Amino acid sequence: MGLRNGEEYRESIRDGREVYYDGELVEDVTQHPAFKPIIDVRARMYDMQFEDQFKQVLTFERGNGTRACRAFKPPRAQEDLVAQRRYVETVLNEVAGVVQRVGDDTVCELWSMYDNIEMLRGFNPLFAENVESHIERLMELDLFHVSGNTDPKGDRSRPPQEQDPDMLLHVVDERDDGIVVRGAKYETAACYANQGFIKPTIGQWGEAMKDYAVGFITPMNAKGLKLICRTALAVGKDPRDYPIATRFDEIDTLLIFDDVLVPWENVLFSRVPEAAAYIRGTLHRYVVFPFLLRTLFRADMLLGTAFLNIEQTGLEKVPQVREKLTTLMCYRETINAHLQASIYSAQTSPGGLCMPNQPIVYAGRVFASTNLPTMVAHVRELAGGQVQLTPDTASWNNPEVRKYLEKYYAIRDWGMEDRIKLLLFTRDLVDSSMAGHNLSFQLFAQSPPYANLVAMFNSFDPTPMKKLVRKAADLSDVVLKEG
Ligand SMILES: Cc1cc2nc3c(=O)[nH]c(=O)nc-3n(C[C@H](O)[C@H](O)[C@H](O)COP(=O)(O)OP(=O)(O)OC[C@H]3O[C@@H](n4cnc5c(N)ncnc54)[C@H](O)[C@@H]3O)c2cc1C
Repeated sequence: MGLRNGEEYRESIRDGREVYYDGELVEDVTQHPAFKPIIDVRARMYDMQFEDQFKQVLTFERGNGTRACRAFKPPRAQEDLVAQRRYVETVLNEVAGVVQRVGDDTVCELWSMYDNIEMLRGFNPLFAENVESHIERLMELDLFHVSGNTDPKGDRSRPPQEQDPDMLLHVVDERDDGIVVRGAKYETAACYANQGFIKPTIGQWGEAMKDYAVGFITPMNAKGLKLICRTALAVGKDPRDYPIATRFDEIDTLLIFDDVLVPWENVLFSRVPEAAAYIRGTLHRYVVFPFLLRTLFRADMLLGTAFLNIEQTGLEKVPQVREKLTTLMCYRETINAHLQASIYSAQTSPGGLCMPNQPIVYAGRVFASTNLPTMVAHVRELAGGQVQLTPDTASWNNPEVRKYLEKYYAIRDWGMEDRIKLLLFTRDLVDSSMAGHNLSFQLFAQSPPYANLVAMFNSFDPTPMKKLVRKAADLSDVVLKEG
């Protein structure tokens, strides 16, 4: 009970889970080369909670005298959002990279559920109790919690009943001890997390879809749950050649629920289309904030990389180069402004929590995600073609080769090794498989772009603007019926 350290986290995921990697059953994920690096990063985050320089930022005193992870504290005031921001920034700075799915973001989805607790209580008081107890349980047990929303879906032009019904995850049985579910979901980090919150993504909810309207918490070692992982991007590569992919590859997983029993205490709703529709509309209410924080951190990585490359090659005084750098700066500061403003004008949620200002934070997400590919292209351009042309570090080992590398890569105050290391870092940031993967993450991980625009549209109240134009144009007071 209480805060866990890295070793306790590692021990907790050696729990008999059924993980497959490249077709083979993995005995111990913590030792497998595909998972070990990112598990070590996650374990480091757990260890940081006990270190003097970090513990005030990363943990908080609970009412019962124990401490818990800061990220799990439901926000009740602006200062909680500020603390959440400091939590994310402190962790990312320490590990010196962007880790997306490490639990501080996914916990936010439970707060969205909490906002709707009275509706859930109306359907079944147990659902409401379960939401509250799972929020508490995360704090108490310091669990690593992730999120599974997306089904493989199959043929979108047909409802699931007119194809293999398992194309969307659904309830197949309801028993005294719980519900039995079947289907599949995608979930980043599932194979090295403790548990996931599983829920639907689709939009049309009628009676016919009742069995698909299910949300629950599952431990990753549940009987019948199979975790099939995608292949890692840089296993066996030298970390100096792929410094990002060898450390921060957050393995995505296809979860197969082959008749998995979900005990009643883990069911957040079952056969409740209203709850499924609600969660679709509000899922990102809080989680958009840590997502945007991570995009800010990515922007910082891009800026730092661009500046250092420019300094190495002596281009810092060229006006056109400065213009491109300025564009990156504007990108960075615009995201920062959305984050700051979303805290400054935070709103009270229906459940009484403090949520980042919704239209501002959603506008920030649309801006950040839409413009990220352009910013990546700027860095690629500023760093130049040598990013793609430079030999890997193994070349240094041969003295015959090394003397030429020294001759052509040592420039200004930079030695050959640092010049090449920066070029290889830049490659992994903007030009490798990892770089492409990260762009896809930004594009899809919080739903595709059209859904981000829908969230923006639905959170925005145009009434003041309409009133203003009525006044400015001297329009009559006729109010059109809402369509
Ligand atoms: C790196 C990565 C990590 C991920 N991690 C997770 C995770 O941890 N948990 C999780 O649940 N999911 C995760 N996802 C999945 C992600 O949530 C989905 O990919 C995303 O929601 C899009 O769903 P889809 O892939 O089924 O695309 P589809 O629904 O097939 O959509 C494809 C495209 O079709 C168009 N489209 C589809 N429907 C509509 C519509 N109604 N209106 C307009 N256009 C439409 C859009 O252009 C859309 O981009 C991850 C994805 C990636 C790439």
